[in-house]
Amino acid sequence: MKSDNFEKELPEGYELKLHINAKGSKLTAIYLVLSFVPILITVAAACLIIEFVGGGLLSLDSLYRSLAFLAAAVVLMVYIVLHELVHGITYKALTGGKLTFGLRWNVAFCGVPDIFVYRKAAKTAVLMPFLVFNVVFVALTVGMYFVDGCAFLAAAFVLGMHIGGCVGDLHVTYMFDHKFKDNKTLMRDTGPEQFFYVYTGVTNSDISE
Ligand SMILES: [Zn+2]
Repeated sequence: MKSDNFEKELPEGYELKLHINAKGSKLTAIYLVLSFVPILITVAAACLIIEFVGGGLLSLDSLYRSLAFLAAAVVLMVYIVLHELVHGITYKALTGGKLTFGLRWNVAFCGVPDIFVYRKAAKTAVLMPFLVFNVVFVALTVGMYFVDGCAFLAAAFVLGMHIGGCVGDLHVTYMFDHKFKDNKTLMRDTGPEQFFYVYTGVTNSDISE
């Protein structure tokens, strides 16, 4: 079934319709600003919950508070790697394609640059880390609520960082859900860049990047 999910070469009758470049300065700036919104929302929600549901849980030990946020920093470092691995594992399972991984100052990425992936498989691989780590970090945050208020805040911060960090993946998913709903749509994912090709049926057309 793997071969149903991709093409090695762009077939006749396809046209490049959209090129997303997360390394581009304009998109980087937009992603950066948008990525802070979920962090603020999750931390604000956690503060409200502590205030109105369980304020008594907040740890008074300042050393413990520091450790909670240091632990969050470590979790985030590990998360960046795991997030890309989940993309990679999903792409590998669906296409068997050769993966590429990378890290720049503004973006961590994983892609399958040598093949053209059909919409359903591409969308699954792009969205998988968001779905998986939503479950992981919501569970962690809920769990920490019953441990300590500060650990709860730190976990909420991690949850927000995760959602904010998925802004690029959510952008691609939005495009698949709203602009490229035809399952014949192909995407080439180099990691930081995504190219969307739609089937027009017009052959011998000029396809240039
Ligand atoms: Zn991602």
